[in-house]
Amino acid sequence: MPGDSLQVNINTKGKVANTFDAIVIGSGISGGWAAKELCEHGLKTLVLERGRNVEHNKDYPTAIKDPWDFPHRGKLPNALVKENPIISKCYAFDETAQHFFVKDKEHAYVQEKPFDWIRGYQVGGKSLMWARETQRWSRYEFEAPARDGFAVDWPIRYDDIAPWYAHVEKFAGISGNKDGVEHLPDSEFLPPWQFNEVEKVIQQRVNTHYKDRQMLMGRCAHLTEPAAIHLEQGRGKCQARNMCQRGCPYGGYFSSNSSTLPWAKKTGNLTLQPDSVVHSIIYDDEKGKASGVRVINAQTKEVTEYFAKVIFVNAACLNSNLILLNSTSDRFPNGLGNDHDILGRYMAFQNYRGSLSATIDGFEDTYYYGRRPVSPLMPSFRNVYQQQTDFKRGYLVFWGAYRNRGKEIPDASVGSGFKESMSEAGEWSVYMSMQGEVIPKVENHLSLSKNLKDEWGIPQLITSIGYDDNDEKMVKDFLEQGAEILTVAGCKNIVPRDSKQAPGLDIHEMGGARMGKDPATSILNKWNQVHSCKNVFVTDGACMTSVGNQNPSLTFMAITARAANYAIDELKKGNL
Ligand SMILES: Cc1cc2nc3c(=O)[nH]c(=O)nc-3n(C[C@H](O)[C@H](O)[C@H](O)COP(=O)(O)OP(=O)(O)OC[C@H]3O[C@@H](n4cnc5c(N)ncnc54)[C@H](O)[C@@H]3O)c2cc1C
Ligand code: SF4
Repeated sequence: MPGDSLQVNINTKGKVANTFDAIVIGSGISGGWAAKELCEHGLKTLVLERGRNVEHNKDYPTAIKDPWDFPHRGKLPNALVKENPIISKCYAFDETAQHFFVKDKEHAYVQEKPFDWIRGYQVGGKSLMWARETQRWSRYEFEAPARDGFAVDWPIRYDDIAPWYAHVEKFAGISGNKDGVEHLPDSEFLPPWQFNEVEKVIQQRVNTHYKDRQMLMGRCAHLTEPAAIHLEQGRGKCQARNMCQRGCPYGGYFSSNSSTLPWAKKTGNLTLQPDSVVHSIIYDDEKGKASGVRVINAQTKEVTEYFAKVIFVNAACLNSNLILLNSTSDRFPNGLGNDHDILGRYMAFQNYRGSLSATIDGFEDTYYYGRRPVSPLMPSFRNVYQQQTDFKRGYLVFWGAYRNRGKEIPDASVGSGFKESMSEAGEWSVYMSMQGEVIPKVENHLSLSKNLKDEWGIPQLITSIGYDDNDEKMVKDFLEQGAEILTVAGCKNIVPRDSKQAPGLDIHEMGGARMGKDPATSILNKWNQVHSCKNVFVTDGACMTSVGNQNPSLTFMAITARAANYAIDELKKGNL
């Protein structure tokens, strides 16, 4: 058994009380979906969450505060930045939302190569602070590894997952426009957000100039017009305040806290247990499957075992890898399901390094109202239908126009002149940023430290993940193409920027326990079951064979719902 110190104190009393039909590890976006599906189908489900409880609305202490209610007007004080050099790089970590983020000193890890690991340890996980951009993958992403010769072939295709996209979209509520683009398929949409006047002009110029590039309205998990299913969840219409990472009192955006977890609770089948750090999965050699999990109480450090017929691993990509690597037994000395040294390897993420800024003249008589919580986008136009460049795969572009607040007054930040200038609208600016597909590689990997442990006696995670030549070429191409597109759009003062930021800050890490057809080259089968331990399902970012250029969480939701419904069917048939 791993973690020898645990052996002495395990509380195995009340095995019956500790036995459930299903255990879900993690209560974030994917864990919430697993819980909802399993509970709805009658399974007594235990959700184990390492962080504190966060109840919808009740535990959003800053949600309706104004800037003057915060000691630093919502900005980060220098001392907090100094104490948190990693997490303070994340745009959403500010005085208004900092309570939902893991601080640097709280949960150490080892960066063999620089990796900014952004985490939210609480009920709801990162579903509370995410930016809610949600696009489907197309068939081209699922076919890419086989076509372009990297990673391994996905064991599923777009048609396998399309019904599950529809299933989660209707419940979560996704706004967007039906654009009919084959490589960015439409969702089951609520009404879209609107372009502002400058974006309409840019869209017209760009869409006329290019055959392969278009500006579309972004798709996001916001209730622009709640349907009956959303009202039944107790959620209401989004008020366009864009203060979402504080938690939304209206339930205007999708989070586990506002949507899937309360829904699961209503069934009477959910046991949600915060402060429960999963140490490892218990493997039963005789039965040839997992029997449960070992849990350490976050406060008391007491160790308890819980048992179930089926286990869903949804601790978010890196932590799910950590749990699997730490789940050692006679049968799996190198981690659960890790017969071929694949676990923790082929890690990938999305390349956010490139951005451009520009200005556009005129339009002084136009403005917009409300804070639209989504950005327009341009679907990938590189290497979609055929290989066109000297790098593999492509990038999605987020872009849009906004009007600056205030006229420029050199060096002023106080005084009546400054105050008056702030009451006038400034010039229009245009921004552009990339979301590039990173190719999974064997050398981009995770492992466990042999000597460093965390407060709960669990080995610290070592990240060894970096860029390669493909990523460098992609950034260069984006900056060149972006400048060209902005010129076509009529922009001036175009400034390209390569932030050189470390991987991780994209917060779209994926892989390590990838899906595949062959147990020798992958950890999970097409239903997200560990090939060699079929009652363990991994359905968060860890399962991803490749990463696409779209935001990933909608795909995690769909994959989770699909796998959970398969598990339910298999349980009914007595196969698990
Ligand atoms: C600022 C920000 C912006 C983002 N924007 C977007 C976006 O626009 N679109 C998009 O698609 N994605 C976005 N993301 C990423 C998105 O939040 C994640 O992809 C998503 O939350 C992953 O879901 P998950 O269930 O895998 O993990 P999480 O939501 O992180 O949930 C994992 C849960 O597991 C718990 N846990 C971890 N280890 C253990 C353990 N050992 N025992 C018990 N519990 C454990 C954690 O505490 C956590 O609650 C963003 C993230 C952030 C932070
Ligand atoms: S913008 Fe919408 S979802 Fe976000 S906090 Fe405001 S009302 Fe809620």
